[in-house]
Amino acid sequence: MVHTLYNTLKEFDSGTSTGAFYSLPQLGQALNLKLERLPVSIRLILESVLRNYDDLKITRTHIAQLANWKPNAIRTEEIPFVVARVVLQDFTGVPLLADIAAMRDVAKQMGQDPKSIEPLVPVDLVVDHSVQIDYFRRKDALDLNMKLEFQRNQERYQFMKWGMQAFDTFRVVPPGIGIVHQVNLEYFARGVHQKKDLTDPRHNAIYYPDTLVGTDSHTTMINGIGVIGWGVGGIEAEAAMLGQPVYLLTPDVIGFELKGQLREGLTATDLVLTVTELLRKEKVVGTFVEFFGEGAASIAVPDRATISNMAPEYGATMGFFPVDDKTIEYFENTGRTQKEIDAFRNYFKAQHLYGMPAAGQIDYTRIITLDLATVTPSLAGPKRPQDRIELGQMKQTFAELFSKPVTENGFSKDNSVLDQAYKTRDGLPIKNGDILIAAITSCTNTSNPSVLLAAGLLAKKAVEMGLSVAPHIKTSLAPGSRVVTEYLNATGLTPYLEKLGFTLAAYGCTTCIGNAGDLTPALNEAIIQHDLVAAAMLSGNRNFEARIHPNLRANFLASPPLVVAYAIAGTVMRDLMTEPLGQGKGKDGKVRDIYLGDIWPSSHEIHQLLKVALNAEVFKKNYAQLTQKGDLWSKIEGIEGQTYNWPKSTYIAQPPFFTDFRMQPAAHQTSVKNARALGIFGDSVTTDHISPAGAIKETSPAGLWLQKNGVLKADFNSYGSRRGNHEIMMRGTFANVRIKNLMMPLQADGTRIEGGITLHQPSGEVLSIYDAAMRYIAEGVPTVVFGGEEYGTGSSRDWAAKGTQLLGVKAVIACSFERIHRSNLVGMGVLPLQFMTGVSAQTLKLQGDESFDLEGFGHIKPQQQVTLTIHRANGAQQRVPLLLRIDTPIEVDYYQHGGILPFVLRSLLAH
Ligand code: SF4
Repeated sequence: MVHTLYNTLKEFDSGTSTGAFYSLPQLGQALNLKLERLPVSIRLILESVLRNYDDLKITRTHIAQLANWKPNAIRTEEIPFVVARVVLQDFTGVPLLADIAAMRDVAKQMGQDPKSIEPLVPVDLVVDHSVQIDYFRRKDALDLNMKLEFQRNQERYQFMKWGMQAFDTFRVVPPGIGIVHQVNLEYFARGVHQKKDLTDPRHNAIYYPDTLVGTDSHTTMINGIGVIGWGVGGIEAEAAMLGQPVYLLTPDVIGFELKGQLREGLTATDLVLTVTELLRKEKVVGTFVEFFGEGAASIAVPDRATISNMAPEYGATMGFFPVDDKTIEYFENTGRTQKEIDAFRNYFKAQHLYGMPAAGQIDYTRIITLDLATVTPSLAGPKRPQDRIELGQMKQTFAELFSKPVTENGFSKDNSVLDQAYKTRDGLPIKNGDILIAAITSCTNTSNPSVLLAAGLLAKKAVEMGLSVAPHIKTSLAPGSRVVTEYLNATGLTPYLEKLGFTLAAYGCTTCIGNAGDLTPALNEAIIQHDLVAAAMLSGNRNFEARIHPNLRANFLASPPLVVAYAIAGTVMRDLMTEPLGQGKGKDGKVRDIYLGDIWPSSHEIHQLLKVALNAEVFKKNYAQLTQKGDLWSKIEGIEGQTYNWPKSTYIAQPPFFTDFRMQPAAHQTSVKNARALGIFGDSVTTDHISPAGAIKETSPAGLWLQKNGVLKADFNSYGSRRGNHEIMMRGTFANVRIKNLMMPLQADGTRIEGGITLHQPSGEVLSIYDAAMRYIAEGVPTVVFGGEEYGTGSSRDWAAKGTQLLGVKAVIACSFERIHRSNLVGMGVLPLQFMTGVSAQTLKLQGDESFDLEGFGHIKPQQQVTLTIHRANGAQQRVPLLLRIDTPIEVDYYQHGGILPFVLRSLLAH
C-alpha cells in the first residue's frame, strides 16, 4: 500500500520515464537529521523500513530508531527488514520447498485455498550443489558428471519442477549453469526493482533498491555490487518469502578504509585472505563491514565481490561496497540493458547514495585501515579460512603443525614420520603433505576473471616449459559461470589448463561443498593405514575438517594460479618461493629447474586479456538460454497440481513440522527437568559437524536406513542432496565423522574417538547420537547439548537446527553462538543458552553423567537470565546462571509458537 509518510514519496527521472521513490533526503529533512552521515548500508535498509511502513509490523518508531542510528550505542532495537527477493541453492532450497508444500497441505486440510501459501517476493533457486567430480581430466568429464548428477537427483529435480508450476514467483536455474552467487551477480541482480501500485493516484512505478536474503552464507557476494544481502537459514528465508520481515538487531557498522594499491603479481585471493585474517582479529562478528576510501574505489567489481563473498569467514553479516562508477561499468559489461542501468544510476543519485565515500564522510562505529601495498602472497589453512599463511612460510607452517597438538590447530603427529615415504598398494610413493586434490572451484574465485586468467596464463607458461601435474592428483576446473569457459576459450588458455589436468568438470560448487568425489581405493587405504596427513588445494572459502574429503586432513585455500602451481609441485612441503616447482626447459631449450617466478603472469599480461573476459554480448547470450530442447533438464517430468502428492522417495518426504498443527499454539515449555546431555562438544563446532553435507557412511544410522529402504551404497548420494527427507537428516544430525563428543572417554593413545556417538545415561551404553536420542524420547527424558565458543559456525544450515529439534533436544548451551545458527535454533523452538564469560562445560567439569534442570523462563524476555541446575552423579548440585539468547521480541513470539514455521503459517491462515 502506498503511503505518503513525511511527504517522502517523490519522483525522479529513471532515464526513460518519471519514477516514484521513497526519498531518504526528504526523510532526513522531515526528521531534521543528517542522514548522509549514516553508513550507506544503514541507509539502504532504512529505505526498506520507510517504504514498507504499514503502522502494524513496521511503525514510525522503527523508522525513527533506524534514522537515529548512532555509531556507538547499545544495540537493543530490532529492525524489521522486508527484502525485495530471495535466492536459494538446491541443498537448502529443496527442504524449503518441502516445508512450503507441507504448509499448502495444512491449508487444504483446513478447507482453505492452497494458493493462500505463495511466495510474495521473487524466489530464485540455482541448482549448483549437486554435481560431483566423478570424472575428471577428460574432455567429456562435464557431460559424464552431469549425467550422473541427473541420475542421482532425478526425484529432487522432479520436485523442483513441481514447485515451478505450483508457485507463480518461483524460478529454477537448472544444473550446469553456474554457482548461485555468481548467477546472482551476473543475472538476477538488475539494479533497482519497480512495482506499480494501483493505490498510488499518480500510477508511477515505485522504484526501490535490490535487497535479498539467501539460504547460503556466501550470499554476501552480492554486497560487492552495492546490494544489501546476507545468508539466513532456510526457516528465516521461508518467512521472508511469505512476506515476513527479516528481523535483525541494529548492527554496528565498521568502516574499512582501503588505501593504496596492490603490488605487482598480487591477486584478489591474497587480498581477501588478508582482509579475512585482519577482520577475524578485529572481532567483527555480527557487524556490517562497509568499505570506503580511494583503495576501495580502485578495486574492480569482481575483486570486490571476492572480498564480500568471504564475509562469513571474517564473521561479519556483510562486507559491503557502495554503488559507484565501477558498479555501473560492471553492469554495462555484463549485459544489463541501458534502461536498467540508467534507472539504477539515477535512482542511487536521487537518493544521494551514489559514489564510494571518502574518509571522514560517514560516521562509522570504528574504522579499520588496510594499505593494499602491504598485502603479500597468501594461502589459508589447513583447517580454518582465517588462518592465513604467507606463501614463503607454507612449508614451515605445515611442518610445525604436523606435530602440534590438535588444540593448537595441529595434527598431533610424531615429527619423525613427517618425511617418511610410503607406497600405495599399486606402488605409488606417497608422503605427508602430498596434494591429492587440486581444484579450481567455488563461488569465491572461479568467476573472477583476473585470477582465472592468471591460472590460465600460468598453465600456459608451465606447459610451454614442459612442466606437468602427476596423474594421481585429482585436478578439476568447476567455474561458477559458463561465461568463464567462453573467455578461457577466447583467450586460447583452455588447452593449457587441460594439459595440466584442469579440464572443465562441472559448473557448480563441487569440491567446495565436499562433492570432490572419491580418491582411488589405493590412496584411501594408504592414508588410513599410515595415518597420513594428505592435502587438498582449492580456490574455495571453506576448509573445515572432513568438508573436502573425509581422508584429507589438511585443506588449503589459494588463488586459482596457486592451485595450479601447487598441483605441479605436488606437495605442500615444497617452498615455492625458493625451491623449484619441477624440471623443465628454459628459454634456451636447456633442461633446468623451473621456479614459480618463471611462470607467474604479470599484471600487464592479465590486463591485456581482461578486455576479452568482460563482454556484454557473451553474458546476454549465456543467460538468454538456460535450457535447451531435449537437454537433461527439459527431460525431467514434474508432478502437476497446487499441492504435492509426496510419492514414496528416499529424497523427498513430507516434513513432520506441522503434524497435529492447530491454530492455537500449545502452551510453551516453562522449564526443563531431569534432562540428559546428548553430547558435550568443544569450540568451533560447525554446522557441518552438526549436520554434515557430504558422504553418508554405510554404517551410520542414515546409511543403515537407506539400505533398509533398498538403496545401494553406490546410490547413497550426499546428506546435502537428501535434505528433502527428514528421515535421513535426523539420522545424520551430529553424525559428522570428525565430531568429537567429549563425553566419550579418552583412548589408550590419548586421543578421543571421533564421530557421532555418545554414552546413553544412566546405562553408560555407547550408542549413535541418533539412537540415544530416540531412546531418550521413548523414555520421556529431555536432552540438552553443550558446546564451546562459536557453536554453529560455518555454512548457514537450517538442518543443523531442524535435526537438533527432531532429536528432542530442548536447549543448546554454549559459550557463544554463530549468528544464523542461533536464530535457526530459536526458529525451530530450541532454546539457545549462553554461559556467562569464563564459564564452559569444561570449567564446570561436566562429564555427561549428570542430569540437568533449566528454570526461569516462564515469562520470556529477550536476553534474560535462566538457571541451569547440575545434578552430579555423586549427588552434588550446582546452580549456574545462563543468558537466554532469544534476542528480540519477535523471537519470543516464534519460540512461543513452537518455531517460526508454525508462527508464519498461523498468520497466513488467519488472514
Ligand atoms: S561456498 Fe562453496 S558450497 Fe557455498 S556456494 Fe560457494 S562454492 Fe558453493
